[in-house]
Amino acid sequence: MRTFYRKCLLPVSMPSQGNCARIDSSAFQHNIAHVKKRIGTEVGIVAMVKANCYGHYVSSLSDMFSGVDMLGVATFEEAMALRQAGTETPILLLQGFRNREQLLQCIDQAIICVVHDMFQINLLQSLDVSQSLQVWLKVDTGMCRFGFMPDQFVKAYQALVDLAIVDSNFVIMTHLSDAENSDQQHTLGQLQLFRQLTQGLSHPVSIMNSAGLMSYTDQCCDWVRPGLMLYGVSPYTDRVGADLGLRPVMSLESFVYVIKAIKAGDKVGYGCQWVCPSDRVIAIVPIGYGDGYPRHVKAGTCVLIRGRRCPIIGAISMDSMMVDISGLPTVAQGDTVVLWGRDLPVESIAQAASTIPYELLTQLGARVARIAM
Ligand SMILES: *Cc1c(COP(=O)(O)O)cnc(C)c1O
Repeated sequence: MRTFYRKCLLPVSMPSQGNCARIDSSAFQHNIAHVKKRIGTEVGIVAMVKANCYGHYVSSLSDMFSGVDMLGVATFEEAMALRQAGTETPILLLQGFRNREQLLQCIDQAIICVVHDMFQINLLQSLDVSQSLQVWLKVDTGMCRFGFMPDQFVKAYQALVDLAIVDSNFVIMTHLSDAENSDQQHTLGQLQLFRQLTQGLSHPVSIMNSAGLMSYTDQCCDWVRPGLMLYGVSPYTDRVGADLGLRPVMSLESFVYVIKAIKAGDKVGYGCQWVCPSDRVIAIVPIGYGDGYPRHVKAGTCVLIRGRRCPIIGAISMDSMMVDISGLPTVAQGDTVVLWGRDLPVESIAQAASTIPYELLTQLGARVARIAM
């Protein structure tokens, strides 16, 4: 109840007063429990909360996170924001510190820093402090993004072991780039390389994101780093969250603002892209790409009104869209319009927009109120 982020700004004149993303914390709890059931009690969970909890804007203080061991963010600024909000949960900073100032603040705020490049080790070596810092050492096993290349690994590892200020039982991690692919070749290569590199080392290790955790459950190791699945969304293109036993956390809702009749030949929306084939009734729904709904959804993409699918017609505007409700004579002004949610998976809208649900969720705009339920 306390994760209410931004109040609806529209005046109260209709049963539904604005666009909102309803955030179902019980669904999040369900998804956490689902992860725990899969991985067992020995494995720690880093809940990924980068990009404002994948666009959900849940407070890091929310009870939602009571079942997780650590919170994961991408940037230094995100880590500091969590601490400023009063979070006492351990925080993992995936991109690590970028300079000496940030490093000192990470020490001060007890942020766990991923070390992925030699410049960071150099910064650590130049320090002369009595405090200690927890780090995770990241190796790049086949993504060519953050992490030491395999031929640099031993050198980086040894340098960290030699550093007195670094907690010596650091986690060694890597990241999978293709775990959602049913063709497992690349991932199996990554896993094998990681095993080779860490063979004989007694450090805890961490590999799995959501797709890794679900596709390679038997190799979850000491720490998992699920993001998307905690929000109830599937990383696979051929399955939605419900197929995996997950419950979507977000329901994106607008409302029927205006109902009007249009005639055959009328042209709907910018660019006259949709020409009305016969007399129709349409609803104008005040949400658009300015709120983060993707402009390029394919023809026939639907919204839900009173549980029925109604196709979007014409180009989506910045602040509104038009929907054909001819088949639904009972629609009334103020009716709730679901853009995505339990009965209209965000995965399907992402597919219709030729993108991935990660993008839709994280790009949901600031005009949309997030309301906890
Ligand atoms: C974002 C991220 C994750 C979480 O990925 P999901 O696919 O959302 O589960 C895990 N690890 C790293 C390094 C990440 O950047």
